[in-house]
Amino acid sequence: MDPVGVAAAAPDARPGPAWQSKCPWGAPNTTSISCSLADVMSEQLAKELQLEEENAAFPEVVAVAEGPFITGENIDTSSDLMLAQMLQMEFDREYDAQLRREEKKINGDSKVSISFENYRKVHPYDSDSSEDEVDWQDTRHDPYRADKPTTTPRKGFVGKGKDITTKHDEVVCGRKNTARMENFAPEFQVGDGIGMDLKLSNQVFNALKQHAYSEERRSARLHEKKEHSTAEKAVDPKTRLLLYKMVNAGMLETITGCISTGKESVVFHAYGGNATEDKVIPPECAIKVFKTTLNEFKNRDKYIKDDYRFKDRFSKLNPRKIIRMWAEKEMHNLTRMQNAGIPCPQVVILKKHVLVMSFIGQDQVPAPKLKDVTLSSEDMKKAYYQILNMMQQLYKECNLVHADLSEYNMLWHDGKVWLIDVSQSVEPTHPHGLEFLFRDCRNVSQFFQKGGVAEALNERELFNAVSGLNITADNEVDFQAEIEALEKMNEDHVQNHGKKLSMFSNDGDPPIYNE
Ligand code: ADP
Ligand code: MG
Repeated sequence: MDPVGVAAAAPDARPGPAWQSKCPWGAPNTTSISCSLADVMSEQLAKELQLEEENAAFPEVVAVAEGPFITGENIDTSSDLMLAQMLQMEFDREYDAQLRREEKKINGDSKVSISFENYRKVHPYDSDSSEDEVDWQDTRHDPYRADKPTTTPRKGFVGKGKDITTKHDEVVCGRKNTARMENFAPEFQVGDGIGMDLKLSNQVFNALKQHAYSEERRSARLHEKKEHSTAEKAVDPKTRLLLYKMVNAGMLETITGCISTGKESVVFHAYGGNATEDKVIPPECAIKVFKTTLNEFKNRDKYIKDDYRFKDRFSKLNPRKIIRMWAEKEMHNLTRMQNAGIPCPQVVILKKHVLVMSFIGQDQVPAPKLKDVTLSSEDMKKAYYQILNMMQQLYKECNLVHADLSEYNMLWHDGKVWLIDVSQSVEPTHPHGLEFLFRDCRNVSQFFQKGGVAEALNERELFNAVSGLNITADNEVDFQAEIEALEKMNEDHVQNHGKKLSMFSNDGDPPIYNE
């Protein structure tokens, strides 16, 4: 298949396989968006630009134009690929284990130690904790290390009479060159040459040295790229294996391609497979893969470490497990919303950091975000009242605050708004829960006021309408100060009495606004 053709042709422009003609990536959207000064200053625009930049930097990750990502038919090839990747990983791990032994040997009992951490092949978070336990202890005998090569004394020769050897002697020189390979960067693999009686000629040694240095530089560059290539990380071999297993088990029929690469997740589209006894698989699914790099998640600590539901576990977890917890959180929150009848994706299955849910959209085309659709003024008003109701339901029935609610995380599908992206949602009693709610209210309020909905409440009115609290401050600064005071009161109460204040609970009925 010609990937260039696929990328360039409009979806209906020429015949092709069914998935291709329906492919949402078929026709790149080249329309440029003009924007006002206010937009230029906006955080969202900054986000968009950053995303564009990221995508441009690592285009290969999203390049799924060559065909379905994983299908039932290409199982053989992908499993070979997978096996190769697994073997490579095993190899890298062995290499790292050797590196650790070297490190331990060099450091010994010294108080000052050096670390080879940066030269490791496998990122520490890529390996499961169980797999982290490589044989650190085995330092008694290092099979790769030979006895120290003998050196020529200062006088420049050893031996007597006709057995004399100088430092220019070919054999001595070769051995010395071999020994000097030890000075190459640790990630440069010299095999077990050091341990053997290998004699390297000066010419070979110099070539090797040159190569070692350029390798060192290349590796540093790669390391840097790897660190930043978060999208690449999301579909690391282990994740691929997970996805492959889902297809292999018949749960999914085909994983067609990537819908979105964000900072914290990559979302794929898939066709659902066969229903099992206890599970009906939707015909189309969205697979959200939480990224296994931690750069972005570090910023999100505040959402989860204060969430009492996860509090006990947070401190004991390694970062890899914390990422799984984000996926778990999204699953629980979606389930609560589903039970309350809020339009949102339905959870299909959660496996580690991979969450499968129903797809909002049709024929591989995801429903547009609210920010991307142009609604009639009637639909806009309808959407507003629906969101107002959903926010109240979320607060009252699900005991949740979305915490990232904006036109970016609401999809327009089937004539109504669907809420997505709830991994960061928290309960209102979260130490920052009310602040998050206020931010949500500000986003919603501004979006609809700008969108011409005259009935749209301002952010403070909306906050009171959703929470049922009655904060009377008539300006934003005082309003926020009151919110923070309430949060603090609640925290103190929790500290002193071990439970939350009743005003945060669901007892107080927020006024229900209807059209
Ligand atoms: P992120 O944390 O990266 O913002 P989201 O959950 O918002 O993750 O998903 C990113 C994008 O993927 C969304 O904006 C939406 O376009 C698409 N998406 C996510 N979930 C679904 C779904 N269930 N159905 C259709 N599209 C989805
Ligand atoms: Mg989102």
